[in-house]
Amino acid sequence: MKETIKLLTEAYGPSGYEQTVREIIKNQVESYADTVEVDPLGNLHVLKKGTGDGLKIMIAAHMDEIGLMVSFIDKHGFGRLTGLGTLFPQSLVGNRAIFTDGTVAVINAEKWPFPERIDHSFRNLYLDFGVLRKEDVPVHVGDVAAFQRPFVDLGETLLAKSLDDRIGCAVMIETLKQLKTTPHEIYFVFTVQEEVGTRGAITSAYKVQPDVAIAIDVTDSGDVPEHKQHFEVKMGQGPAIKVMDIGMLAHPNLREWMVETAIANDIPYQLEILRLGSTDARAMQVAGAGSMAGGISIPCRHLHTPSEMVNYQDVQQTVQLLLALLSNPVVLG
Ligand SMILES: [Zn+2]
Repeated sequence: MKETIKLLTEAYGPSGYEQTVREIIKNQVESYADTVEVDPLGNLHVLKKGTGDGLKIMIAAHMDEIGLMVSFIDKHGFGRLTGLGTLFPQSLVGNRAIFTDGTVAVINAEKWPFPERIDHSFRNLYLDFGVLRKEDVPVHVGDVAAFQRPFVDLGETLLAKSLDDRIGCAVMIETLKQLKTTPHEIYFVFTVQEEVGTRGAITSAYKVQPDVAIAIDVTDSGDVPEHKQHFEVKMGQGPAIKVMDIGMLAHPNLREWMVETAIANDIPYQLEILRLGSTDARAMQVAGAGSMAGGISIPCRHLHTPSEMVNYQDVQQTVQLLLALLSNPVVLG
C-alpha cells in the first residue's frame, strides 16, 4: 500500500487539475470494478455491484490537493499568489511551488516578522522564478501550482504533501481491492475540487443519490505542541469516526453503526468533533434529496502544510473498518 501512497502523494493535482491523479487511480481500480466512469466535472465514479440485497452506498475521497494561483506579476518578475484552498502563509516560506508545465518557483515573504492577520500575510508573500526580467517569467497570471515535496517513509509514520486527501484515495483503492463480497451497490467516488468548496462531491452525490454516504478524509491531530483547543483526536490512536464538523452533523445511527462495527472487529477508534473545516460528507448529506452521511477520518499532523504526516497503522485500520462496514448489511438502529 505504501507504493500506492507514494505514487499518489507525489502526483501533481491542485484543485481543478486532478488529471494525473485520476489516471493513476483509474489504472489501479479498473480490474476490480464493474464500471469506471469520469463525469463532466472530472469526478471518477467506480462502481462495485453487490448481491442486490443492500443499500446504495457512496464512499468519497478527494483527489485535489491545496495549491496556489498566480494573481499578479510585478515589473521585476516576482509573482504574487492567492490560495487554492486554505493555506497558512507562515508554513509556505522557503517552499517550492511546481506549476502544471513543470516550472518551479520559491515562495518567500516580503516582511519579517509576519503580520498577524492572514490577509495581510498573504499580500506579504511572493514567488521567485529565478529570472532577472519580467519578460522571462515562465508563467502567467491564472497559472496554478502545487507544492514540490517527495514522499518519505519513516516506518510507522508517513510524511508527504497532499496526504489530504490522497491517503483517503489510497484507503478507498485498497478497500476495493480487498472487498470480496458485499450486499451493497457501492460507488467509490474520487472527487475533484474539495479544497475549494466540496464542489465535485455535490454533483457526484446528485448523480448517485446514495442512501448512505461516507467521506474518507484526514482530520487534525491534537497531540502536537501547539495549542489545538482541547482536540481529542490523536495520531496513532486509530481511525476517527466523525460526530460533527463545522459543516455537518454525522447521522447518529450511521455513527453508531461505525462504532459498533469497530468494537466488534477489535479496531481502535476515536470520535471526531472538528471545529474547523468540513469534508465531502457535508456535500453528500445535502445533495439532491439528501442522504444519511458520515465520515471516517485519518488523524494528520501539520494539516494543510507542505509536510503532512499520518500514522501507517491508522491508515491500515481505516481500511479494516471500511471493509468490515461494507462487507455486511447496514444496521441503522
Ligand atoms: Zn481533505
